[in-house]
Amino acid sequence: MNTVPRIEASRLPALLQAMPKAELHMHIEGSLEPELIFALAQRNGVQLAYDSVEALRAAYAFTDLQSFLDIYYAGASVLLHEQDFYDMARAYLDRAVADNVVHAEIFFDPQTHTERGVGMETVINGLYRACRDAQIEQGISASLILSFLRHLSEESAMQTLEAALPLRDRFIGVGLDSSELGNPPEKFARVFARCKELGLRLVAHAGEEGPPAYIWGALDTLQVERIDHGVQSEKDERLMQRLVREQVPLTVCPLSNLKLCVVKDLAEHNLPRLLAAGLKVMINSDDPAYFGGYVNENYTQLFAATGMGAPEAYQLARNSLEASFADDAQKAEWIARLDQSFEQFAQS
Ligand SMILES: [Zn+2]
Repeated sequence: MNTVPRIEASRLPALLQAMPKAELHMHIEGSLEPELIFALAQRNGVQLAYDSVEALRAAYAFTDLQSFLDIYYAGASVLLHEQDFYDMARAYLDRAVADNVVHAEIFFDPQTHTERGVGMETVINGLYRACRDAQIEQGISASLILSFLRHLSEESAMQTLEAALPLRDRFIGVGLDSSELGNPPEKFARVFARCKELGLRLVAHAGEEGPPAYIWGALDTLQVERIDHGVQSEKDERLMQRLVREQVPLTVCPLSNLKLCVVKDLAEHNLPRLLAAGLKVMINSDDPAYFGGYVNENYTQLFAATGMGAPEAYQLARNSLEASFADDAQKAEWIARLDQSFEQFAQS
């Protein structure tokens, strides 16, 4: 599309809702709503530290990444059987379909589960079956990215990779998440080199709370193809120039940044500046059950707070589709649908 059609500001929320988009940064364990946590706790006889859905939801007042992670791991403790992983993923995929997400690349944290004695195949098979059924029944494309927990050792990451390799055809790549500060990318150089040899796609969280040096490290040492978050890149002009030159995708998560106090106010979020500077940024939900909204909520709240309009909406959605690991023919088909949705809005 050469020029984005003019679309009235009042119709922007409907456009943000309707436009096809990809979601490339969401953690499936972060989609566990309190209601589902309680239902699974009951089904599996797990005792929770909270006595009601309301009490659990009230605990979602975070001060930083670590305060969130503590509750996140407690929530994941209800997941024991393949069907639990399946139900969690189907619930997310339903929400994604409602937000016109045409393609999702979903992070999962096997170590959160294998450390509790849950089998690797229980986790991967439940999630994989959910992705496959959603594709057949609802037409959404979905694939899985295995994420290593960076607060654990590289040895633990390597063991996790080896345990997952018999199911290699069920995930497309690896990522790196959890507590960023004090756990630089270089700590995982060898396991990422091994993943690259295996032909896995590579991404890593960097520059959420951590410094620009972590983004350099993720690119140069880990050789990742996308940076998850990356909002701290603005502090380093030379890094900004590189990200523009190489068009490295940054999977930004506005409501997550707000809830974890990376930004004080959405109106101050730097995504509009990063986009205007030519960086390949896009919008994602990160851990939607914990941060106050799924992907469309992230779009609508950020647009309302910053005054971005239809041209930015088009570019963000297009970036999300282009930065996905789908094949080129599939991406072209989604981009044609994106163009169509803008043309329809301009005419109607
Ligand atoms: Zn994340």
